[in-house]
Amino acid sequence: KAANLEEVAAIVANFEINGGFSDAVPFGSGHINDTYRITNSYAACPDYVLQRVNHEIFKNVPALIDNISYVTDHLRNKFSTLMGSANVGDRALTLIPAKSGQYYYQDAKGQYWRLYLFLPDTRSYDVVTTTQQALEGGKALGQFQNYLADLDVSKLSVVLPDFHNINFRLKQFAEAIQNNAAGRLDEVAAEVAFVRAREHGMGEIERLGDAGKLPLRVTHNDTKFNNILFDANDRAQCIIDLDTIMPGYMAFDFGDAVRTLINTAPEDEPDLDKIQLNIPVFKAFAQGFLGQTASYMSTTELRSLTLGITLLPFIMGLRFLTDYINGDTYYKTAFPAHNLQRARAQFNLVEKLEKAHHQLYAIVMHAAEVGMSHTHAKSN
Ligand code: ATP
Ligand code: MG
Ligand code: MG
Repeated sequence: KAANLEEVAAIVANFEINGGFSDAVPFGSGHINDTYRITNSYAACPDYVLQRVNHEIFKNVPALIDNISYVTDHLRNKFSTLMGSANVGDRALTLIPAKSGQYYYQDAKGQYWRLYLFLPDTRSYDVVTTTQQALEGGKALGQFQNYLADLDVSKLSVVLPDFHNINFRLKQFAEAIQNNAAGRLDEVAAEVAFVRAREHGMGEIERLGDAGKLPLRVTHNDTKFNNILFDANDRAQCIIDLDTIMPGYMAFDFGDAVRTLINTAPEDEPDLDKIQLNIPVFKAFAQGFLGQTASYMSTTELRSLTLGITLLPFIMGLRFLTDYINGDTYYKTAFPAHNLQRARAQFNLVEKLEKAHHQLYAIVMHAAEVGMSHTHAKSN
């Protein structure tokens, strides 16, 4: 399935690179696209990241690329005007044009490829271990939101309709139950009951949105912590993995980041006792994020962030459970009950987050107050 070196070299030849192609190696731990690091034959010229975009999942790749170029252009302008950064290319992804003039190349098999500047000396974290990383990550995601707040949301394409819409996910779940395609329904009675008990409550963000009480913003929609690149000094440098940028609610980005950083265990942890909440890390992240964003959010939107904290792991658990019932047709699995294990781990996290709700709410509101006073101090 992976392309060989000659194939990759031939793909790269369709882009406007500086220098020349030297080597290509599979890179990173992404699950969606195929990623290669392209090294340059000239030391003075940059390296690149080549990605084959997953066309199975993303039906309209040109629209997806347009979203990315619209957003990264805007970010670069912000970094240069607001921060006076000389190296704006370090802070936002840079798409390299193909010789056709478009920011992608479509090969003879119909596959889509794109090329970014490689960001040297960076790293990402699957599990957050220090409050410093969390604070930095929160600032970076908050700044991403902040800098995109004045973009026209209607100019973005909806690349994956209803991606974080709980009603859509519940509909898929109901269909899976009805079909019981893999005959696994009897096994998951407890998990189905867990979902049923929360069906209504988890719909609050969508209801607020439908009632016009939450603004649609430019959201990233895949704010897993490992999509933040850190520099050699452990400062957050750049937000990556921009495929799912589209209109959404702020609570989606906040909630998905918290899902991955507050959990002391991996998302598929089999030993549920190991799933604990890292409150200091959460507090630091909330401080970083709200320091950038609190000043322009309504109280309703601030409250919605705390709803997002339980909603996002619930949605993930629901999607894993649905896939398990369907017989593992969407997610790659390492063993037969992997999706069930993932669902149980996410639902266990949801229960622990529910129990800590008042504490998490207080932390968000406090961080928002501090964030607002910072903004005022700065602008005075
Ligand atoms: P996911 O499963 O998270 O959706 P993905 O398949 O969409 O992943 P990316 O997250 O875009 O892939 O990239 C995969 C990995 O490649 C990243 O985790 C990061 O380590 C590395 N990477 C991506 N872009 C760059 C870049 N411009 N410079 C340096 N490293 C990069
Ligand atoms: Mg990624
Ligand atoms: Mg991705």
